[in-house]
Amino acid sequence: MTDFTSKKALVLGGSRGIGAAIVRRFAKDGAGVVFTYAGSHDAAQSLAAETGASAIRSDAADRQAVIDVVAAQGALDLLVVNAGALVMGNPLELDADAVDRMIDINVRAPYHAAVEAARRMNDGGRIIVIGSTNGDRIPFEGGAAYALTKAALQGMARGLARDFGARGITINIIQPGPTDTDMNPADGPMSSQMHSFMAIKRHATGDEIAGMAAYLAGPEAGIITGALHTIDGGFAA
Ligand code: NDP
Repeated sequence: MTDFTSKKALVLGGSRGIGAAIVRRFAKDGAGVVFTYAGSHDAAQSLAAETGASAIRSDAADRQAVIDVVAAQGALDLLVVNAGALVMGNPLELDADAVDRMIDINVRAPYHAAVEAARRMNDGGRIIVIGSTNGDRIPFEGGAAYALTKAALQGMARGLARDFGARGITINIIQPGPTDTDMNPADGPMSSQMHSFMAIKRHATGDEIAGMAAYLAGPEAGIITGALHTIDGGFAA
C-alpha cells in the first residue's frame, strides 16, 4: 500500500480496464479520486459507488473538454492520463477520421491535460501517462498508427520533465504489454500471437499496472521523471 491520504487525484479514462484498476488502487490508498469516462455510464457509476470516487463524463477527444475538466479540479497532486483508443488494420484501408480521433485521444489529450494540470499542480505533483510497449516495439502488421501515438508520449514526457522539474513535478510513461481488459481480452483472438513475443506468456492484470502507477505516484519515486516504465512480460525485450 501507498499512503495517498490528503492527495487529490484525477484519472482521465477511469471507468473500465486499467483506468478502473488505478481508480480502485488510489482510492484504497486514501486519495480523493475524480475520474472521467466517455461512453460507459453504468460502469462509471458503479465504480464511483464502490470506491467513493467521483465520475465526470468528459470526452478525451475534445481538447477544450480535457482542459476544462483538468482546470476544474484545481490544485491536483496526481494526474493519470489513461484514456486510450486502439485503431488497427491495413493502413491503406483504415478510416482516416478514426485514425485522427485516436491521435486526439492518445496524444493531444495527454499533452493538454499534463500542461493544464501543471498550471496549478502542487509542488511535488505526479503526472503519469499510460503509453504502451508498442511505443518501442510493434512486431505485427496493422499497428503503425497506434504505435505512433504511444511513441509520441515518450518525447512528451522527456520534454515536460524538463519544463516542470524545478517544481518537483514528475512525468512518467507506463508502457504496459498485453493486459486483460475489454480492449485486449486475455482470451481474445490475438492472444497466442502476442504471447509468442513474450518471455512470460500471459496477459498482465489491471492491478499489476495499477501497482506500478501507485509506485510512481508515491513518495519513493520523487526523483523518477522523463522516463519510460515498461511492464510487458518481456514483450519488448
Ligand atoms: P479499455 O478499452 O478497456 O478502457 C479504456 C478506458 O478509457 C475506458 O475507461 C474508457 O471510458 C476510457 N476512454 C476511452 N476513450 C475515451 C474518451 N474519448 N474519453 C474519455 N475516456 C475514454 O482499455 P484499457 O484499459 O485496455 O487501456 C487503457 C490504456 O492502456 C490505453 O491508453 C491503452 O492504449 C493502454 N494500453 C492497453 C494495453 C492492453 O493490452 N489492454 C496494452 C498497452 C497499453 P468509456 O468506456 O467510458 O468510454
